[in-house]
Amino acid sequence: MRDSMDDQVLYDVFRQEIREQKIPISLGKTCPVKCTFCYEKDHSYRPTIDPPLTTQEHWKFILEEIQKYPTKPGEAWLLGGNEYMEWTDIFLHPKAMDWLEEFLDTTDKQVIFFTVGYTKPDRIQKLVEKYPGRINYELSVITLGESRKKLMPHAPTVKQVLELIGGSAVTSSNFYSFGPDTMSKDAITISKINPDCILWMGCLTPLKYIDEETSALMRHGRRYLPEESRKIYNAGLPNTQMIHTESYISTFLARQKILKTFDACELEKKDNVVVSASIYRLLSTLRKNRARYLYVPNQMLGGDSDCSTLLTFNDVAQRLNGETQVYLPKVIMEHPSKVEKDITGVTFDEFKERFPRIRFKILHKVNSKMSNGKLYEKGYLKNVVEDYLDNPLAKKIAEAPLPN
Ligand code: SF4
Repeated sequence: MRDSMDDQVLYDVFRQEIREQKIPISLGKTCPVKCTFCYEKDHSYRPTIDPPLTTQEHWKFILEEIQKYPTKPGEAWLLGGNEYMEWTDIFLHPKAMDWLEEFLDTTDKQVIFFTVGYTKPDRIQKLVEKYPGRINYELSVITLGESRKKLMPHAPTVKQVLELIGGSAVTSSNFYSFGPDTMSKDAITISKINPDCILWMGCLTPLKYIDEETSALMRHGRRYLPEESRKIYNAGLPNTQMIHTESYISTFLARQKILKTFDACELEKKDNVVVSASIYRLLSTLRKNRARYLYVPNQMLGGDSDCSTLLTFNDVAQRLNGETQVYLPKVIMEHPSKVEKDITGVTFDEFKERFPRIRFKILHKVNSKMSNGKLYEKGYLKNVVEDYLDNPLAKKIAEAPLPN
């Protein structure tokens, strides 16, 4: 009896993940790579299950379920469940490569995956040649430098990673600044062996459950981000180069659009509007007193997090203080399941029930389509160097104080 109950839960989770365009295979345990920066170190904020190692029978179900979905142009299916299951490096599953091949063979869909490099170079190369344009391979390099051993104790070696990048399978590599000659050195090394690979760069953000040593290394890296960015800019590499990770930079680069969207919301001076730190600084500088900005820190994620999309209803609840009407950005509740809920699974209706005296209104224009669009459009390293680093306005906004 118990088994059938568990199975039902498991298959329901498969269905839910599949509904969100995931291919929910699992290692049946927490990720053995044990990266110190892993954002899955704490996933207690969202309800997840501990799925067993995916079996051939599970896979049959998953694949048949996915095959029922129509193929939408440009849509890629993500390998690995990550909403109701814990995120792991799925290529440690002994069948992952076979199932990836079967997926490519029996559907016409694209796939996207993130791995620290556990794909076998020959095999993945063959798949990319056999299914051109359908594999988005995002290689999480993190760093090729001396911090690698400390940050990723069980990850593939630098030699293995470089071998992968040297082939044409890898679509993009992500790696970060951890101090002088880290991100810039890696960019030059990677570009030399693969001038087509997209470079995703920036910093890793300390969250509250990341250990002190790792957090200090991340912050050290952030201090050197300007210098590292300039070195890469001056190197004139042929690769597409993006920096998306620092919200204060992304907010500044997208400022025109953010201000235009804010103006279009036609708020009154006395209206309370929920904002995260970078948006607070921008609006309190360039749209002073146009509304009451209710600064809400990302309390749940903690650390240095600063992102409207990752705010939770509980974060907002902690900042409410006698308001009768509050405007909320749509991004807080744009859950992939299409139900209005935050990243912890709390629904907008549940939140409203907690505060029957407050009228909550949604700023529909502040949505993830807009913010993601701008992130990609503006997030080039070139823009960071040319429009942000020496811009006196950026400095002025960065220095705007946050309320207590
Ligand atoms: S490989 Fe990915 S999922 Fe595994 S510990 Fe590292 S960051 Fe986390």
